[in-house]
Amino acid sequence: MKLHDFPRYELTFGPSPLQHLKRLTQHLGGAQIWAKREDVNSGLAFGGNKVRKLEYIVPDVLESGADTLVSIGGYQSNHTRQVAAVAAHLGLKCRLVQETWVPWDDPMNDRVGNILLSRMMGADSRLDPHGFDIGIRDSWKEALAEVEANGGKPYPIPAGASEHKFGGLGFANWAFELAEQEKQLGVLFDTIIVCTVTGSTHAGMIAGFAALEDLTGVKRRVLGIDASATLEQTREQVARIARNTAELIELGRDLRDDEIQVLEGWAGELYGLPVESTMNAMALGAQLEAMITDPVYEGKSLAGLIDLVKSGEIGKDSTVLYAHLGGQPALNAYHRLWE
Ligand code: PLP
Repeated sequence: MKLHDFPRYELTFGPSPLQHLKRLTQHLGGAQIWAKREDVNSGLAFGGNKVRKLEYIVPDVLESGADTLVSIGGYQSNHTRQVAAVAAHLGLKCRLVQETWVPWDDPMNDRVGNILLSRMMGADSRLDPHGFDIGIRDSWKEALAEVEANGGKPYPIPAGASEHKFGGLGFANWAFELAEQEKQLGVLFDTIIVCTVTGSTHAGMIAGFAALEDLTGVKRRVLGIDASATLEQTREQVARIARNTAELIELGRDLRDDEIQVLEGWAGELYGLPVESTMNAMALGAQLEAMITDPVYEGKSLAGLIDLVKSGEIGKDSTVLYAHLGGQPALNAYHRLWE
C-alpha cells in the first residue's frame, strides 16, 4: 500500500508550523535555521511527536474493538501523556506503566509535569521500579494481561509507539507535509535535525524522505541526534524501523547506509540527564527565540544542531530544519536545574 492509502485519524491541527529562527541564525553566523513545531501540533494535552504517530495507529485501535490503551514509559514520559490524551479523546480507558527510567531524585518527579497531566486525563498510571530500556518490557506485558484478567480488551502501544507496525507512518507523512510547505514558501531544507531515542520518528522520516527523493530527485541529510545514550541499540532500532516502514509504503528499494545516520556526542552518559551542551542549547533557544526545549530530548538535539552549524559540518549555504518534537511538560520535574 502507498503511504497516502493508509487510514489516518486526524488528531493534529493540520500541518505543523514552520518558523525561521532568525536570531539563532544570526547568532551562529552560519546556515539558515528553521524549526518545524510539533510541540504545538495538536490541542490534545500539548501535543508532540507521538500524536502524529498515533494518527496512523488509531484506525487499528478502533477496528480492534479494544477498550483500553496500554502503554509504557518513564515517569516523565511525553509518550504516555499523549497516549492518555488520545484515550480521553476517543473515550477509551488507559493503563500506563511508568518506569524509573531516569535517576533523577527530585521528590516531584513522579507527581508533576507529564504524569500529572496523564492522571488528570483519567489514566490509570502506576509506578514501576524498572530502569531504562527502549525494548519490549515484561512490566508492560503484565499490564496487558491484567487488563484482560479484569475483563477488558487491551490495545498494546509499545514505548514511543516505535515497535508498532504503523509506528513509522506518521513521520513518513511528515516528509510529504514538509515538501508541500516548501513549495508554498519557496524554501528547500537540505538538512533535517531530529532527536532520536525509541527511533520511529527518525525512522519514519528516513522512509518518507527516501520516497520523496525517488519522486523528485531531491537528496537531503536526515540527521538523528541520539538522546538515548544506548547508541548501538538506538541505531539498530532506527535502521530496522526505517526498513520496515520503507517496505510498508512500497518504497521498492533498500535504504542506503547514508540514509540512516544516528549521530553521537550530545546524549551525555545517561538518558534523561542533561549535560553542559544541553543546558547551553536550552538557554540559547529560550533567550534568543523564546523557543522552549527540555533537558531529556530537544535540548540535546538542539545542542547537536548548534555544534554542527558552528563547526561548518552544516555549511553556510545550508538551510537546516530543526524538528521540534515537544517535551516541555517534563520541565516541571527539572525545576532544580534553574534554581
Ligand atoms: N523528543 C521528544 C520530546 C520525545 O518525547 C521523544 C520520545 O521518545 C523523542 C524526541 C524521541 O522520539 P523517538 O522515541 O521516536 O525516537
